[in-house]
Amino acid sequence: MWCDQAVPGGSIVLEFSGDVRPTPARFSVQVGVNEHIHPDDDALTNGNALRFAWRFLNHSCAPNCRVAGRVLVALRDLVAGEELTFDYNATEWSMAEPFACACGACGGSIVRGFAHLDAQARERRRDWIAEHLLERLRDEDA
Ligand SMILES: [Zn+2]
Repeated sequence: MWCDQAVPGGSIVLEFSGDVRPTPARFSVQVGVNEHIHPDDDALTNGNALRFAWRFLNHSCAPNCRVAGRVLVALRDLVAGEELTFDYNATEWSMAEPFACACGACGGSIVRGFAHLDAQARERRRDWIAEHLLERLRDEDA
């Protein structure tokens, strides 16, 4: 998915909307400790394609956006035409369908979710880890 206009860093780029379910799937995005937003079943029909454009957001280990609750926020100034990316390892606790990363920044790691990262990999993501993952970590430590 591409940025259609210049966006200042820190701005909301889009809002995730769809069905909230307790379990992840291939095209869902985790937005809460037990909340995963899924595109509606008719996401690609009836004029809904734009509303669910977020389902085409690609992963990057060096992302230009982060997920905060149910919105996507620019991590830095974005220019029109730039591809929007976020770090699935910083939103998903454990991926429904892990995959080999092709972002070019990591040398081809397997993206499985935050639960599977070592301490160093977590620390590298400190500026864009979703709050619900930190919340879950605190719950586990308690
Ligand atoms: Zn990568």
